Amino acid sequence: MSTQGIATPQRRYTDPDGGDWTDEAACRGADIDRFFPEPGRGATAIYEAAREEYCDGCPVRLPCLRRGEAGETRAKQRQGRHGLFGGLTPVERADRALVARVLAELELERAVSRA
Ligand code: SF4
Repeated sequence: MSTQGIATPQRRYTDPDGGDWTDEAACRGADIDRFFPEPGRGATAIYEAAREEYCDGCPVRLPCLRRGEAGETRAKQRQGRHGLFGGLTPVERADRALVARVLAELELERAVSRA
């Protein structure tokens, strides 16, 4: 079965904490266009709806956000960020203080859940 058009990162990103985190992704099997909508008017509403439906309760927001950060090459940053990662929109991920704060919160959550 083709997985084109199916959400959940197909380009594997190995989380430093280990494990194939994509198996636990809440968005697995969802329409990828909800996570990578065409830029422009309406994209924010699509991102926010996907975040509410999938990301808010997703158990793997931390590796997903890390994966989004790992994929941000300088060239991509010049073109503009794209895609919902870890529940953060491209505009939100451009706010480096916000990304750092969310990463710290998610890392703390993970540490507590493993304690
Ligand atoms: S945080 Fe959102 S985009 Fe990332 S794996 Fe979870 S549901 Fe999918």
